[in-house]
Amino acid sequence: MGLKRIFSTPSTLPTTTTRGGRATGAGRRPLHGGQKCSNLRITILCGVITVLVFRGTIGISLLSSFPETTTTSQMEETNRIIAEIRSDGNDNDKESVISSNDTYTLGPKILDWDGSRQKWLQEHRGFLSHVNGRPRVLLVTGSQPSPCNNPIGDYYLLKSIKNKIDYCRVHNIEIVYNMAHLDKELAGYWAKLPLIRQLMLSHPEVEWIWWMDSDAFFTDMFFEIPISKYDSYNLVVHGYPNLLFEEKSWIALNTGSFLLRNCQWSLNLLDSWAPMGPKGRVRDEAGKILTANLKGRPAFEADDQSALIYLLITRQEQWMDKVFLENSYYLHGYWVGLVDRYEEYTKKYHPGLGDDRWPFVTHFVGCKLCGGYGDYSLERCLQSMERAFNFADNQLLKLYGFSHRGLLSPNVKRIRNETTRPLEVTDNTNIRTSMHRGGVSEN
Ligand code: UDP
Ligand code: MN
Repeated sequence: MGLKRIFSTPSTLPTTTTRGGRATGAGRRPLHGGQKCSNLRITILCGVITVLVFRGTIGISLLSSFPETTTTSQMEETNRIIAEIRSDGNDNDKESVISSNDTYTLGPKILDWDGSRQKWLQEHRGFLSHVNGRPRVLLVTGSQPSPCNNPIGDYYLLKSIKNKIDYCRVHNIEIVYNMAHLDKELAGYWAKLPLIRQLMLSHPEVEWIWWMDSDAFFTDMFFEIPISKYDSYNLVVHGYPNLLFEEKSWIALNTGSFLLRNCQWSLNLLDSWAPMGPKGRVRDEAGKILTANLKGRPAFEADDQSALIYLLITRQEQWMDKVFLENSYYLHGYWVGLVDRYEEYTKKYHPGLGDDRWPFVTHFVGCKLCGGYGDYSLERCLQSMERAFNFADNQLLKLYGFSHRGLLSPNVKRIRNETTRPLEVTDNTNIRTSMHRGGVSEN
């Protein structure tokens, strides 16, 4: 079982210490000190000691040659460097406190982005905002600058970016992974706002920025966003109109995966969305307003999702005509209720559907693997994330003739015989040619 391995590895570390003094300890001295065993009793005693020491030596050498060995010094050094990295992060935080009299902005007000962007595109014909009739999309994701408090969090960040790289490679989408806080006031879940704004300005050729959280996984590697459906919209987010405008629910939409068009409207939206974000007093006070106005919201600092919901509710006429609330497929899918059904989907359906039959995205809302307080147990989150990852990975591995041994196993097995004529199976198993033929029904 994959998770057993993950859990058992750290517990073996302290027992394999080679610096603890045993190897150079007093127990060995008599053997190498030239002492003579001059009579039978002493000979027998020497023999017994030899056997004991020999056993001990074998034990030590076996342990120290075990591949999972980490020495105390390596661990100490790692911890020291991690502490240094973390303390540097804190110093930066202190520098950035702004006076509460300042009105917060994401940057200088940009007024004619659409015009200047068009002009730029005309002057840079090599940079196309549409390729083969499809708008250029940039997938953006990221995580905090410093290592996770819980080291296993970093392992899942790695799996998460691998999952996104795989999806983007198959669908010809460019990807950015950001670990910098471009605006120190907007750390944490707010970090996506200044990042998206900067990427829009730095990449005028990109038509859509697609933000995706690090705790969201693609679980349908074949599904493609129906992008032309959004031709006359600027923001596409998973959500439900009745939950938004009737219930005023704090989960009416989810900002873990959304698309924002590179245009003036979006820059304006970001400007109106950001002011609740600056950490400290502003974010805390704004949190109270959001909790008072949004149904089901617990009391905590302002988060980007609640702030967007509040903005759309209070300024419906200003924004909603360009907002598409998508719920015909899982642009975001809440992991609870999905992760236990992967076997069922596999039995009944095939990838490429993206909806209840094969969710496009599985988002681990409320799981805090990197550290902090989550709403679910660490074990449940880890197991579920492992399942989501392997479920997705299987879809690609299948093309290469492999599959995970189980949804909780990092190990794989062969599912197709090797052949001396590999190209005969390529057309059926190559994801790009399958997609060009207009479907993936053979799955
Ligand atoms: N994030 C980031 N930089 C940070 C902290 C968070 O880019 O310093 C991103 C990360 O991708 C994370 C997302 O912000 O997934 C939103 O946070 P989280 O997923 O914890 O919120 P939730 O979805 O649970 O509400
Ligand atoms: Mn998330």
